[in-house]
Amino acid sequence: MGDYKIAVLPGDGIGIDVTAEAVKVLKAVAALDGGINFEFQEFPWGSQYYLAHGEMMPKDAIDTLAGFNSILLGAVGDPTVPDHVTLWGMLLPIRQRFQQYVNLRPSKLLPGIESPLRGKGVKDIDIVFVRENMEGEYSSVGGRMHQGTAAEVALQTGVFTRYGTERIIRYAFEVAQKRPKKHLTSVTKSNACCFSMVFWDEVFKEVGKDYPDVLTDQYLVDAMAASLILHPEKFDVVVASNMFGDILTDIGSAIMGSMGLGASANIEPTFKYPSMFEPIHGSAPDIMGMGIANPLAAIGSAKMLLEHHGEHNMAELVSKAIEQQVAEQKVLTPDLGGTAKTWEVGDDIVRRILASC
Ligand code: ATP
Ligand code: MG
Repeated sequence: MGDYKIAVLPGDGIGIDVTAEAVKVLKAVAALDGGINFEFQEFPWGSQYYLAHGEMMPKDAIDTLAGFNSILLGAVGDPTVPDHVTLWGMLLPIRQRFQQYVNLRPSKLLPGIESPLRGKGVKDIDIVFVRENMEGEYSSVGGRMHQGTAAEVALQTGVFTRYGTERIIRYAFEVAQKRPKKHLTSVTKSNACCFSMVFWDEVFKEVGKDYPDVLTDQYLVDAMAASLILHPEKFDVVVASNMFGDILTDIGSAIMGSMGLGASANIEPTFKYPSMFEPIHGSAPDIMGMGIANPLAAIGSAKMLLEHHGEHNMAELVSKAIEQQVAEQKVLTPDLGGTAKTWEVGDDIVRRILASC
């Protein structure tokens, strides 16, 4: 129960379309539950802002965002703007300045969805990926030497601190402990990365001593990629470093049946700073402006916003609305084999939520 100030950053491409639907759904939730109030403020930051102003967001953007309870983000990316500009100009500063060290990405196969793996004997996918979100391989430590010469060298250093590694692994154990299977898989590449990943394995073992009731196993990332395709039902909670988590969760949303279904949360667990909720997919320039982007990943991310703020009943309502809509197979966007427009999917979710009162 509460009043929440939400910063809305639709960003670029289909981010704009799908975020509008997520906001629509949160408004429906507030209309249904008199104890919840949202105050939304939208900011037009992203690639278009960069093309006009030379930066993805204004200098005081972080200070502005600090005044909000949570951030709802669409997607950033544009074919005319280098990817590292969109990432380092907006997404990574927000994640890092607000200590959003957990990237939570559930991957669940919903009834009615045609996963590429269905028919191959895979029926039950219900995985929560816990990805480290602030350090690891995505550090800015490194450089380039002898540029443009035959002796050129580029260095990109992974940074794994005990503080950062322990806290993400502990968070993952906490998530696993609350789930029925209580099973946590740690993913590394410690046969090849003999400093950082061996260290990760050690920390995983140490932290695991505090959670004797959680079943654990450890995979190398290459074997894990194959196992997610061959036996996804074997996994419950998966913890991985920044880059491995990023890659594995794209597999996670692909095996859910569409990139348009993968929701995510960038979480700062202490509420000192705002957390940020965004679909896993990007701005998808190939389908932008066509009104056919699937908004369910963005709506699922809004559901995670509700969960983060302890609004579990309302989060459950949104989940049910998504599940029923998908199972009925009537209002689906083309990525799921339907002909519905983005806004029709959002309207149908709103109708289901309002019908549940
Ligand atoms: P970016 O550079 O911003 O990450 P991208 O080109 O990598 O964009 P993604 O959004 O990551 O594109 O997704 C890859 C493809 O998956 C898209 O090109 C699009 O065809 C499809 N896709 C992604 N999201 C959706 C969605 N919400 N609905 C339907 N299709 C989607
Ligand atoms: Mg992408």
